[in-house]
Amino acid sequence: MRVLVTGGAGFIGSHFVRTLLEDGYPGLEGAAVTVLDSLSYAGNRANLPAEHPRLEFVRGDILDLPLLLDLLPGHDAVVHFAAESHVDRSIDDANVFVRTNAEGSQNVFEACRRTGVERVVHVSTDEVYGSIDSGSWTEREPLLPNSPYAASKAASDLIARAYWRTHGLNLSITRCSNNYGPYQHTEKLIPLFVTNLIEGIPLPLYGDGANIREWLHVDDHCRAICLVLLRGAAGEVYNVGGGNERTNREIAERLVALGGADTSVIHRVADRLGHDLRYALDDTKIREELGYAPRVSFEQGLADTFAWYRDNPAWWKPLKGNGRG
Ligand code: NAD
Repeated sequence: MRVLVTGGAGFIGSHFVRTLLEDGYPGLEGAAVTVLDSLSYAGNRANLPAEHPRLEFVRGDILDLPLLLDLLPGHDAVVHFAAESHVDRSIDDANVFVRTNAEGSQNVFEACRRTGVERVVHVSTDEVYGSIDSGSWTEREPLLPNSPYAASKAASDLIARAYWRTHGLNLSITRCSNNYGPYQHTEKLIPLFVTNLIEGIPLPLYGDGANIREWLHVDDHCRAICLVLLRGAAGEVYNVGGGNERTNREIAERLVALGGADTSVIHRVADRLGHDLRYALDDTKIREELGYAPRVSFEQGLADTFAWYRDNPAWWKPLKGNGRG
């Protein structure tokens, strides 16, 4: 089997590729991988095993349809991670989000259709549902995205659905909650706070810190993607939650404790525009239909993540002070 992974040099995509190449996914042992990644500010070739015999790395853009049409023949499956992924950047400039996430995704699906790729997984987000005060979203909830990032991902989900419905593309969509783990860019909440703590810099907490997110370890997320790739049904959406709802203030305080610091390092800053209050997924479907269950406890996962950043300053130091993060 040969799998093409878009965005495979980013945080989640590279975890998926590393685990796949370590034969960590039952049913995908021995699979060959092509990573297609433009190496935007968020992509890093060093996130992937440099000389692995089953890995081919192609630097290229999903906006480049001729490249996709050239590359895809011979691949059995595509896992589509490539995206602009940071909400704050989408508030500053939404244009590249619409181009990469909507137009780029359409290119990927179009190229899959034209070249006869047998199976496609489109990796999306819980943010397409909007914000929910209580309860949790099933896959049947309407899409009510609030940030330009979420809107561009919702657009890609609808385009994905159209390629299934119109062209019969064998495609499934995953929508996950906030991921955490090693190799995540320092612009994102947990790595930002961890690396600030290591460097003795204050932690900027948006507003009153009451916003609630559900946290999912990247390893659990990628196992869920593998299950959907191998056993998911065409045209179906699968929510992947972590079950760990925490306010941003709770995350900050827990990290402060892990870093042996004092909560006085937490500084309130002006809130994000249009900041969604709460995300919460009902992932009964993937649990009951595909046998998914998260394995990483939040306490252990967070402690391990903190330790990884403490032990790998050479990976993240170049990202600090370089724009966001
Ligand atoms: P990331 O920003 O770490 O990685 C994105 C990767 O895509 C990078 O390697 C980047 O170089 C590449 N890329 C960007 N534009 C490209 C283009 N035009 N052509 C080719 N490659 C391009 O993101 P991530 O956190 O790993 O997220 C991966 C996917 O998961 C995204 O689709 C994101 O929307 C989704 N997701 C992420 C989270 C999360 O918590 N990180 C949560 C829900 C959903």
